[in-house]
Amino acid sequence: MSAPYEGSCNCGAITATFASEPMAVRQCWCRKCQKASAGGPTTNALFATDTMDLRGAVKWSGYEADSGNTVEQGFCPECGTPIFGRNSARQGSWMVRLGFLDGDHDLFPDMAIWLDQAPAWARVPEGIETCATQPAPSPAKS
Ligand SMILES: [Zn+2]
Ligand SMILES: [Zn+2]
Repeated sequence: MSAPYEGSCNCGAITATFASEPMAVRQCWCRKCQKASAGGPTTNALFATDTMDLRGAVKWSGYEADSGNTVEQGFCPECGTPIFGRNSARQGSWMVRLGFLDGDHDLFPDMAIWLDQAPAWARVPEGIETCATQPAPSPAKS
């Protein structure tokens, strides 16, 4: 299955449609993500916000990351399902927790980041790119 993708939280109060393919799909093993995911990494598809149709009121909780950027995590205020992440340094795109997406999609993480902070039992899918921290932002493609 490819775009459009449909997403919903566990209780159905938040739903969304994503009209385009994600720009990247990544696992993040940073400590904040371990807390957000209840133990493992978060797995996120990066979608452009202008191709997103969001229905329902997401609750946001922010913190200042080591980079100095503000990172916000969005979740359903009714059932607590983690749904989004967004970074003040990256306007125009949000990370969407892969578990939010419904249906038989075949999105798969292509990179695992912040392995420096991963627990000893962490296992990363074979063959994907890894990064000890955060990869440098890729230059805009011309
Ligand atoms: Zn919900
Ligand atoms: Zn993270």
